[in-house]
Amino acid sequence: MDLKSLIRDIPDFPKPGILFRDITTLLRDADGLRYTIDSLTDKFQVANLKADYVVGMESRGFIIGAPLAYKLGAGFIPVRKPGKLPSSVHAVEYQLEYGMDRLEVHQDALQPGSPVLIVDDLLATGGTASATAKLVQQIGCKLIGFGFIIELRDLQGRQQLPDGVPVISLVEY
Ligand code: IMP
Repeated sequence: MDLKSLIRDIPDFPKPGILFRDITTLLRDADGLRYTIDSLTDKFQVANLKADYVVGMESRGFIIGAPLAYKLGAGFIPVRKPGKLPSSVHAVEYQLEYGMDRLEVHQDALQPGSPVLIVDDLLATGGTASATAKLVQQIGCKLIGFGFIIELRDLQGRQQLPDGVPVISLVEY
């Protein structure tokens, strides 16, 4: 299936000069949505990556993370922006283009030693995914893979991710 034909390009969003890859047009397409989740599932299974948990980042990481966890027979864990999770959290701070941002996960969501996959809709600079990797590795989880629908190759996000951890993406620009 040609996933690129279902992904919409929006110029100058969220600011001038940025070409935003909009997956809402892919998500609304029943065949496209099924193919996306099934393909990520297959790739993780073929690579023999067996996770206890799929960790997804707010907010588009939730959309693919939960069905992927369901298909893989894993649990789903949300990583959220500050102040959204109701119980005690572990946090990680990371650099944005201007300033810092912070991601949080519930302290009791993950246990040391658990095999974990990290998923999001898109890998750009790798800042979000590498911060999430730090968060789960600080807890002592075994990070076994990353999954994305889209990878923006020119931004070299893979190079920010921990060495030796497999990275799966379905579409490259
Ligand atoms: P990174 O931290 O630079 O790798 O950016 C990845 C994060 O920004 C992900 O959580 C994406 O959802 C979001 N993002 C960046 N660019 C785009 C885009 O073109 N389309 C959709 N999401 C994007």
